[in-house]
Amino acid sequence: MGIGKRIGIMGGTFDPIHFGHLVTAEEARINFELDKVIFVPTGKPPHKKDYEVTDSEHRYLMTALATNNNPFFEVSRIEIDRKGYSYTVDTLNQMVQIYGKDTSLFFISGADAVLDILTWKNIKEVLDICTFIAATRPGYPINKLKDKLEEIKRLYGKDVYLLEVTAIAISSTDIRRKVKEGRSIKYLVPEGVEKYILKNGLYR
Ligand code: ATP
Ligand code: MG
Repeated sequence: MGIGKRIGIMGGTFDPIHFGHLVTAEEARINFELDKVIFVPTGKPPHKKDYEVTDSEHRYLMTALATNNNPFFEVSRIEIDRKGYSYTVDTLNQMVQIYGKDTSLFFISGADAVLDILTWKNIKEVLDICTFIAATRPGYPINKLKDKLEEIKRLYGKDVYLLEVTAIAISSTDIRRKVKEGRSIKYLVPEGVEKYILKNGLYR
C-alpha cells in the first residue's frame, strides 16, 4: 500500500477556501511531483481564537466543492471528526497509519504559517514525519522567513522547501469582510463556493 508515494497535505481553516489555496496546492503538486494533495480542514483550530470560525461542515463542504474538479485533490475529514483542538502532529500520525511509512508526506503551508511552526505542538515530531513546503505569499517579508528557516535548521536539522507561488494576494479574512460589506467575491473563490456562501448566508 502506497509504496514510495508522495502526498501533499494542505491544512487550513478554509473559512472559506479560495484561489490562493488552490493555486498553491496545484503548484506544489507539480513542482514536487506529488501523487495527490489532501486538503485537511481544521476542526477546532488552536491558533484562531480571535474570531468565531464557521461551522466545520460548511468549511468541509466548501473545500469539497472547490477541489472536486481536480482529480489529484482530495478532502479529508480527519480533523473535523476528531475531538478537541486540531493539532497537525495528530493528523500526520493518522496519515502515517493510513498510507504507511513508505509514503513521503509534504506539508504545504503559506509563509505566514511557517513563521510560527516552532510554537506548534510536538514540532520535532512534526518535522520528523513530514517535509515542509513554504509557499511565499505577497506581503510576507522573505527575510523574516529566511531567518526562521535557519532557526529550524539549527534547532532540528531540517530543511524547509520554498515555493514561489504565482502571486495571489487573496485571504479568507478579506473574503469574509467583502461578503459582510455586500461586495462581490467573484474570481476570488470558485463559483460553487461563492454560490454556497450566498445560499447559506455565511459571513453576513
Ligand atoms: P485567514 O485570513 O482567515 O487567516 P487564510 O486566507 O490565511 O485565512 P487559511 O485557511 O488560514 O487561509 O490558510 C491555510 C493555509 O493556506 C495556510 O498555510 C496559509 O498560509 C495558506 N494560504 C492562505 N492564503 C494563501 C495565498 N493567497 N497564497 C498562498 N498560501 C496561502
Ligand atoms: Mg491564515
